[in-house]
Amino acid sequence: MVNIEPPTSQATPTVLAFDPSLVAKYSIQGPRYTSYPTALLFNEQFTLANYEHHLDTAGTDSAPLSIYVHIPFCRWLCYYCGCNKVVTKRRGVTRQYLDHLAIEIALLSKRIGASRQVTQLHFGGGTPTYLDDAELTELIHLLASHFNLDANQEREYSIEIDPRTVSPDRLALLRGLGFNRLSFGIQDTDLQVQQAINRVQHTEQIVELVGAARAYRFNSISFDLIYGLPRQNCTTLKHTLDDVIALLPDRIALYHYSHLPARFPAQKAIERHHLPSAGEKLAMLSLATTRLIDAGYIYIGMDHFVRPDDELALCQKEGHLQRNFQGYSITLAPDVLGIGVSAISAIGDSYGQNSRDISDYYKKLDAGQLPIDKGLIKSTEDQIRAYVIMQLACNLRVSAQAFTDKFSISLWEKFADVQLKLEDMQQDGIVIIDHEGITITETGRMMLRNVCMVFDQYLNAHTQSYSKTI
Ligand code: SF4
Repeated sequence: MVNIEPPTSQATPTVLAFDPSLVAKYSIQGPRYTSYPTALLFNEQFTLANYEHHLDTAGTDSAPLSIYVHIPFCRWLCYYCGCNKVVTKRRGVTRQYLDHLAIEIALLSKRIGASRQVTQLHFGGGTPTYLDDAELTELIHLLASHFNLDANQEREYSIEIDPRTVSPDRLALLRGLGFNRLSFGIQDTDLQVQQAINRVQHTEQIVELVGAARAYRFNSISFDLIYGLPRQNCTTLKHTLDDVIALLPDRIALYHYSHLPARFPAQKAIERHHLPSAGEKLAMLSLATTRLIDAGYIYIGMDHFVRPDDELALCQKEGHLQRNFQGYSITLAPDVLGIGVSAISAIGDSYGQNSRDISDYYKKLDAGQLPIDKGLIKSTEDQIRAYVIMQLACNLRVSAQAFTDKFSISLWEKFADVQLKLEDMQQDGIVIIDHEGITITETGRMMLRNVCMVFDQYLNAHTQSYSKTI
């Protein structure tokens, strides 16, 4: 049994407390838990027949649906990149890709049905805006003719933006096509850092695009930033943060750069001696966290800062924030259809991933079959652990009563084996354990991944493949 006496001296502070020694202690490799089990556990025992069965029996006609479309192409190679992408300027690649997306979309629509309302749509990459205006329009029309796209204001239709590939006019087109959320890949605004990662984009252009996005009434603007990049230090990062905060994005994701060149060959182009030391990275994380909190942002966990009036912050406060492969969400549809090379679907209790190899992806579709490559069906044990991990990752607490109501077993009995680890974390002020359940403290938000990892039964075999938690 876990000690359920609430600690008297550990009242939750109201402001995120950044404790460098604790952050250093908990800096290990671990997943971001956009799914549980994580994608590293997907395997080939999950077959096309499994995937088709799940599509055929998924949700009712009235259940909402989420769609993710992966556009793998990029014009230039960013040296830090760990994504599944194809760097090319070859003409004709997009035509071939769109033709195959059309086959996949038709096959999927036939199985899952065309009537479910698509409340969430996300275009990711690669670079979705690699497609030109006519191609983006064609793709939206293709989706609209096979699925029930949502015209409701509350829909979450988002697209990742590489600022080097869009103009204000292109943003107007995206708004017209139904997108209402933009996610800008900023990373860093310092020229030397940008040169070191082979991604030079001018701040004036970002300022212009954000102004246009506001004029076209996009509901939400997010920025992605990275710390730990080559030639980055506290001085350059401070300037980047000043540039970013001046533009008041609704959401900011601040990711840690993990240098894993053996796994991500693009990173071999980065000079190791240009990388900041572990101490410098810790100082940068401290600087960024403090600066963003001082500027009024709230740290909701898992690398994400949001403005206090952002719906993610409000939803987390009310205890029903959710999370999937696209990140945090306020109203997650029960099923996610992943379309495109390497895309991941979450249908019922299964995960299925399309082939990561574009030739194989084309070959399967040319043969008239869905291009599924691997996946898994969640066991009951997986579902119990997934519930705890997602509650912690999203809402920063697990209610013992809600757990018992859902699974007919006591939270403490089920997880008696992790008692000591949790007690250690309680000693460190990261969690509070009491009769109501497990609560992440304000200090503990920075170590959210570490707390989730306590409940991950697959971790030891795969830890080396994940990025650092902090
Ligand atoms: S970081 Fe994004 S834009 Fe850069 S190469 Fe990778 S996928 Fe393409």
